[in-house]
Amino acid sequence: MNSNAVIAIHGGAGTILRASMSASAETEYHAALHAVLSAGQRVLADGGSALDAVSEAVRLLEDCPLFNAGRGAVYTAAGTHELDAAIMDGSTLEAGAICCVKRVRNPILAARRVLEGSEHVLFTGEGAEAFAAAQGLELVEPAYFDTEARHRQWLLARGQQRAMLDHDGATLAAASSSNHDDEPTPHEPIDPNRKFGTVGAVALDRHGHVAAATSTGGVTNKQVGRVGDTPLIGAGCYADDATCAVSTTGSGEMFMRMVAAYDVAAQMAYRNVSLEEAAHDVVMNRLPKIDGRGGLIAVDARGNVTLPFNTEGMYRGFARLSEAPVTAIYR
Ligand code: ASP
Repeated sequence: MNSNAVIAIHGGAGTILRASMSASAETEYHAALHAVLSAGQRVLADGGSALDAVSEAVRLLEDCPLFNAGRGAVYTAAGTHELDAAIMDGSTLEAGAICCVKRVRNPILAARRVLEGSEHVLFTGEGAEAFAAAQGLELVEPAYFDTEARHRQWLLARGQQRAMLDHDGATLAAASSSNHDDEPTPHEPIDPNRKFGTVGAVALDRHGHVAAATSTGGVTNKQVGRVGDTPLIGAGCYADDATCAVSTTGSGEMFMRMVAAYDVAAQMAYRNVSLEEAAHDVVMNRLPKIDGRGGLIAVDARGNVTLPFNTEGMYRGFARLSEAPVTAIYR
């Protein structure tokens, strides 16, 4: 039995405006991260697989409206929601993903069914929904994903005729509701104008296997049909027992162009560097070269954990067995 079992999660990265932080919002985020880590920890402590732990953690994050995945997802340019998710098992290199779904309550569960029940890796749109329905997963009315906060962000992004990262829109919303245009309304701990709200989890289980899962609503006011890095194996999600498990958050197009998640694993395999060195190189050196902003979480089969980001903050945390979960927001 591997005594280094561990789970790590993220809930998006972005610019921190301390002025925009309210104590109650910060407490709420820490509590949400803590609860998800505790749930993941329980799965691992009971001997569950890393795959089970990351599925459960991401399912809970999808159900939490604080994060841009599942309920609380951002809006497309058409005022709809299109959700993406991926999951990978490091012990078998099996993977499953779905993108552009509008009615699947928990996209990560659909991705998992693709991994387990299909010869394919990625389903999109109607086909993905039909697959999820045939697998007995819960479908919801599209309005289930609506939240007031994301709707406000969308109206502002639409007014500016641009697509923006989840939390870019949120800061705009906070600023616009403030009397002082240059002072954000105390609301979220990370400047919501500069936040990427995707969620993800990586874990090492007691059997020595790793897994990764990532889920998102994408970017606010995105064009209908736009797909980012999240559901692409190797870009937003990757796992291999021989190297590591990785889940990313940030400007998806740049993470796709850098094949960011796989690059961490590849550097470990081909350059023989540590998890930390590989992840640091991707986030701090390679992504910034093409203006890629965000971060990632990663674990390896020895129980090393790293959570680098090149923005001012990233909602994040990790938990080892029988130790209290550690959560953080700022640098
Ligand atoms: N990477 C996600 C995407 O581009 C956005 C995010 O991380 O918030 O869809």
